[in-house]
Amino acid sequence: MTVIVVSNRVARPRVDEPVTGGLAAALLPAVKNSGAIWVGASGRLADSPGKDSLAEIEAHGTGAIATLDMPAEHYRGFYEGFANSVLWPALHSRTDLIRCNPEDFASYRAINAFMARALLRFVRPDAVFWIHDYHYLTLGEELRQCGLTRPIGLFLHTPFPSWAVFASVPQHRELAAAMLAYDLIGFQTDHDAANFSDYLAREFGLTRDEAGVIVHHGGMTRLATFPIGIDVAAFAEEATKAAARPEIARLRASLQGRKLAIGVDRLDYSKGLPHRFRAMDRLFERRPDMRKTISLLQIAVPTRDAIPVYQQLQTDLAALVGEINGRHADVDWTPIRYLNRSFPQSVLAGFYRVANVGLVTPLQDGMNLVAKEYVAAQNPLDPGVLVLSEFAGAAKQLDAAILVNPHDIDGLANAILQAITMPIAERRERWNAMIRRLEESALDGWFSDFVTALRSTRRSPRRPMVVPSASVAAIPRGMGLATKQ
Ligand code: UDP
Repeated sequence: MTVIVVSNRVARPRVDEPVTGGLAAALLPAVKNSGAIWVGASGRLADSPGKDSLAEIEAHGTGAIATLDMPAEHYRGFYEGFANSVLWPALHSRTDLIRCNPEDFASYRAINAFMARALLRFVRPDAVFWIHDYHYLTLGEELRQCGLTRPIGLFLHTPFPSWAVFASVPQHRELAAAMLAYDLIGFQTDHDAANFSDYLAREFGLTRDEAGVIVHHGGMTRLATFPIGIDVAAFAEEATKAAARPEIARLRASLQGRKLAIGVDRLDYSKGLPHRFRAMDRLFERRPDMRKTISLLQIAVPTRDAIPVYQQLQTDLAALVGEINGRHADVDWTPIRYLNRSFPQSVLAGFYRVANVGLVTPLQDGMNLVAKEYVAAQNPLDPGVLVLSEFAGAAKQLDAAILVNPHDIDGLANAILQAITMPIAERRERWNAMIRRLEESALDGWFSDFVTALRSTRRSPRRPMVVPSASVAAIPRGMGLATKQ
């Protein structure tokens, strides 16, 4: 069996040394050891990519990584437009940030159709297709329309919101109907799967059985939960090794015996950075005796900075940090060390281990791997404390963290204080509970569980689904979905 993995971007170990990001960490070993082929955008655009859209194919262990030059005409509308200005805000329940126009949706569909055609070169009799994330919700349907009958699965790395939120996307019914072309749809949490199931029940009158299977005219689609994990042992080893690195020694020396809290996030509005900074501010305001006892190291990596809302966030955060530092700093102490750059995971692991508190406080997050990495990197004898948003998927497993509502600034400030002052026995007890949970859901299990489920999910031959690519007011009767007026 060959697994064809598709995501918007791929990791390129030769080009991007060192590899960063959870998806890269998850998929590279699978490509290397299981012979999977991982396909994604090359980062270059072509005016009229045709048959030669394949930019490069590079062997990686027993598998390969293939990159495609994407159509210049549609890529911006797809990526900055529909994917990141409609779907990303909707999936993170920020309907106020949805910016939708028909041209961007047409580009989204065009890129999905382009990817489907490009993938046909990888079809083998034993191939299964595993598509990743919100960029490619309609790719399964495009592949079916190209005549592909092999198993196709989708894993959604983001949350899936409640019915009313997803229904705010003007093309929601067309998208959801297209998603039913997948044999298996994987979610990070049961809550996300339940939200999608509820959406299907309300919009199309479809129900899932006890095994998570939905029967519809196009065949069957199974919904299931596969919480993504990390390689705990590898991360712990990186953290121990990192102690010898100069960056870590410099960080330690700069603390002068004071405590450190750490935050590591893309600079995204879903991550709750203003709330976190305001909580630090509130802590120092309410407890002036805590000034100069702790500072926050916030790594905020710029992302999607061609989109206005991200540019605005960058400006707002810089101003907020300046204001808070101006209010509380002293000649030999700064409350928030704010870095707009990325670090390789081998360095991050060392930073996590130095930090007494890990602050992971997103407003909404599919999983949040930083929370898991922070726990894995701790010294078991003297572990730091994780302060974790109850709205991160990771909170389902890491319920021994201090769980917070990031909107509650006072509550968050109190949680930070509780973390700084937590006795060692309680720190060890909480950490032991969390590391056990992480070891139970290891990363290699995530890959193999999904692929095994995908192979065994299909129980009936697929009929091709007929869904028009233009926006539909109602699902065509031909599809046999119960339509709701
Ligand atoms: N990361 C990294 N270098 C950085 C910042 C982040 O390698 O400077 C990695 C981090 O280790 C984690 C991933 O990026 O594996 C972020 O994943 P997460 O699930 O926390 O958030 P996402 O960015 O996917 O929303």
